[in-house]
Parts: sequence; C-alpha cells; structure tokens
Amino acid sequence: MMEMPGSDEWFMRQAMKEARKALARGEVPIGAVVVRDGHVIARGWNQVETLKDATAHAEMIALTAAQEALGDWRLEGCTLYVTKEPCPMCAGAIVHCRPDRVVFGCPDAKTGAAGGWINLLDSNPPLNHRCEVQSGVLGEECLYHLQQFFREARLLAREKRKQAGELPSSPQEDGGKAPE
Ligand SMILES: [Zn+2]
Repeated sequence: MMEMPGSDEWFMRQAMKEARKALARGEVPIGAVVVRDGHVIARGWNQVETLKDATAHAEMIALTAAQEALGDWRLEGCTLYVTKEPCPMCAGAIVHCRPDRVVFGCPDAKTGAAGGWINLLDSNPPLNHRCEVQSGVLGEECLYHLQQFFREARLLAREKRKQAGELPSSPQEDGGKAPE
C-alpha cells in the first residue's frame, strides 16, 4: 500500500516505523513523529522499559525532540502523529507545547485523553489550548500491531510460567495460593 507523500497516512507510516523500533526492544510498540512544513522534525518511540522511565512515552520523547529542533517550546505550525491515542500525561504535555494538530492511529477507550476516555485536547479551559484532532489514520493497522504485541507477550509469559512449573495443572487460575 502506498500513501501520498505528505499525507496524514504518509506521516503515520513514519510514526509506525518508530513503533517498530520499540517493538524490536520488547517495548509496547507505539511511535510518534512531529511534522512541520511537510518535514519530520522529531521522532520518538516508547522507551519506558529501556529507560526505566514511566514518562518515556513516544509522544513525550517526540515533543521534547521537536522543541529542541525548533529551539522553542511552542510547537506552532506543528502536527504530532502518534500510532495510538495519547494518554492523559501526553495530552497534558501536548497542550503545554501547543502543536496545531494531533493525528493518531487507533483510539484508546480505556486511557485515551483525546476523546476515548476523556478529552483534554478539546476541552481544557484553564490550559487554554485547543488542538485540531484527527483520529483513526491507519487506525486498524496500528491497533493490529498493538494487539499482536500483547497477544505474543501473554503467550510468552504463559510459556515462561509453564517452564517454571508455576502454572497450576488444573484450569483453576491461581488455585488457592494466597499472595504474601
Ligand atoms: Zn502517554
């Protein structure tokens, strides 16, 4: 599948490329890029495990890199592309950095802060910055990669427990074993 250069789909592909870097390190595969005047000025991928930093979400890293690239914390004229709907932390950071637009892949009904769970990007009177939000760009593909990751992670965890003899022989889960 080929996207038009410069289209939202085109830049989402760039964000997906970042997500693959996360995947290669065993991280939850989420990637982000910041675009200005049709050029990618910053990239980021989820590095929570790599950096042992719960704030090292793809968006946070891309936003910081974009500010550095521009020499300004105001990301005016910029669009943030991210493969999954931003969480409240990232949405808060987005509001502070003030990009014009946020484009994300798959929505996140559980923790999404761009309309999935709550919407910090549209309705935040005290913060006073409203981003144009576009959701669902290559959304199914982004979702597929995430689901695939969690599916494999579950299988792997199960396999490890099996090998360690931790899995109960009966299908009863955690049968009777009280936590310490
Ligand atoms: Zn986040």
